[in-house]
This record gives sequence, structure tokens and C-alpha cells, in this order.
Amino acid sequence: MPPRPEPPPGLYDLDHDALAALLEGEPGYRVSQLWQGLYAQARRPDEMTNLPKALRARLAEAARPGLGPLGEVLADDGETIKALWGIEGGGRIESVLMHYPRRSTVCVSTQAGCAMACGFCATGQAGFDRHLRSGEIVEQVLWAVGRTKERDRRLGNVVFMGMGEPLANYDRVWAAVERLHTDVGISARHLTLSTVGIVPGINRLAAEALPVNLAVSLHAANDALRDELVPINRRYPLDALVAACRAYLTAKGRRLSFEWALIDGVNDRDSDAAELAAIARPLRAHVNLIPLNPTPGYPTRGTPPGRVARFRDRLEALGANATVRRNRGTDIAAACGQLAAACTSVDAAAGPVEPAGAAAPIALRARPR
Ligand code: SF4
Repeated sequence: MPPRPEPPPGLYDLDHDALAALLEGEPGYRVSQLWQGLYAQARRPDEMTNLPKALRARLAEAARPGLGPLGEVLADDGETIKALWGIEGGGRIESVLMHYPRRSTVCVSTQAGCAMACGFCATGQAGFDRHLRSGEIVEQVLWAVGRTKERDRRLGNVVFMGMGEPLANYDRVWAAVERLHTDVGISARHLTLSTVGIVPGINRLAAEALPVNLAVSLHAANDALRDELVPINRRYPLDALVAACRAYLTAKGRRLSFEWALIDGVNDRDSDAAELAAIARPLRAHVNLIPLNPTPGYPTRGTPPGRVARFRDRLEALGANATVRRNRGTDIAAACGQLAAACTSVDAAAGPVEPAGAAAPIALRARPR
């Protein structure tokens, strides 16, 4: 099926000048009011009671402000929320918000579906639908800002690790990063871009002004296995990927992490730990270990807990830093590999979303708009 055409820009895609043009005929201060309301206060236009009612209606009609989530699900832990969004054109995406005692992290999608075809990933199995616009990415974060405020907390981190490969949608993702940094006030060190290994994208990141964190979904540390698990490795093999990571570190001095979905009997052997440590140690990369979550289309299962601990210990004995990440939200299919994306998070891992257009696995609670 050909990719779905991208719809025209929505309200959250407009820059300051375009918003001003949209408000032509209104007093000049309305532009600042709207801009502040959208980004600093994370409100939708219909919630901005400081704007005249007629203007709110006009904005809704003229610029198709964000649709808002179709529904949200709270996990049994009471701290993980998955939002399902309907995007223009008919696709579905998901975002996952994870609350921790001192901070909250949101994992956002960057594409509806994904073309990278990683075999163990629910998103990869579903195929590619379309790129998200920058406004659609920003809007997921603004939703999280609002939900976090309701708990008297502040959104601490944004990880681009939901559905899709961020660097395959580079321009729109970077526009979203800049908007989040400049207008929403999230610093670069609290923004993490993940990639499955798009080397030209990493090189472009290294040339950007904002030093964001980089998370590489590695999953295998030799080309034969990685070719199998992560097909993009056939185009950008490990040598090239490691060189790009090294160049990024040199340019930005930022934290690098490797995400490793532990798959029983596939990439959890002592020899895998040795190969991984040999790559991670010289780069001082932090390894995040996440036992693979079950997805219907992939026959293997996650590494059992005892061997997860052994793998971590082996890495540490070899001089590589590693953390076993808790799988948050497995009961709502919001954990790594269960969104239609399987990229793992540096923070606590939120991954895969339901495939675009697929039925949600559980009943979603509709929220009034
Ligand atoms: S693991 Fe990431 S890059 Fe690979 S198919 Fe899933 S979403 Fe795409």
C-alpha cells in the first residue's frame, strides 16, 4: 500500500508569522496570547477563555487545531498513561506518559507506522502509513504537559521513541525539537532522539545547534545478527554506525545510550554481552536492557529475569554501564515493543504502539474534548 499523503498544516505547525496572518484583523496582542496559550500554557484554543468566543470558533474552523487524544488508558500501576490519537487522514498513533516520583517522561511517536521492518517490533510488522507533521509531534508533548500539571508535577523528559523512526522523518522531527526547546521550554538535555541506526541522520544531528541526547536501538553487536533483527543494518553496518556515534559524542559531548531488547536465546548469550561491551565501553555508552515484550507476529520471547540479571552483570564485569529497565504499562500494551513501535526508552522504556489503524487491544476511555 503506498504511503498516505500528508494533510495540510494544522495550527501547531504554524510559526509566529503564519499565526499572525491567521489572526489578521484582530488586535496585535492576540498573537502573543494565542502563542503563549498554545505553548507556554499548553492549552488548546477552545480552552483559552481569554480569547473571544468568536475567535476561538474561527481558529477551530480555519486551522483545524489538534484533535486531542481519542482515548486514554491508565495502567494498573496508576502512573503510566497511554493516549491513542486519531490523525488526519485516518491513521492512529500512540503516546505514553510515565510518571516517576521526581519527574515525568513522555514517549512520543514520529511516524504513523514505520518502514524499518525490525522483525520483533509491532510497529515494524504493521508497515508505514505516513510521516507525522511537526505539529502532531508537538501536540503529543503538550498533552503530556497538561496531564502532568494535573498531578502538580512538571514534564521532565521527552523521548522520541514511540511509533516510527525519528531520523527517517528528520525535518519535521527537528522542527518539533526546536519548538519544544524554544517555546515549551524543555532543555536539550531533556530531549532524547532515538534511532535504529540511520547514519546520515546522526551526522545531521551532530551539525545541529541543540545538543540533544542520542539513543541508538542496537539490539545486536555483530553484523550478521543485526542484519537479521534490524534490516537497516544492511545499509548502515555497525562500523559506520559506531563511527557516527563517536562523531556525535565528539561534536556534542552528550549522553549516548544503547537500547537492547533482550530476546531469549537470540541476543542474550555471554558472547553477545562481550560484543556489546566492546562497542559500548569505548563510547562510554549506557546500555538499557529491556526484556522483549511479546508481540503477536514474532515467535520468540523475552529473556527470563535471572538471565537478564546475568547479562547485566556480565556487561558490568566487562566495564560497560548497564541498567535493566522496568517494563511500564505492559497491561495496557504500552511497553517497549507493544506500541506499534519497539524502540526502547532511555528512561524507562516506552515503545511500540498498536499498528496504525489497528483496533486497540483494550477498551479506551473516551475523554471529552
Ligand atoms: S524498532 Fe523502531 S525502527 Fe524498528 S520497526 Fe520498530 S519503530 Fe521502526
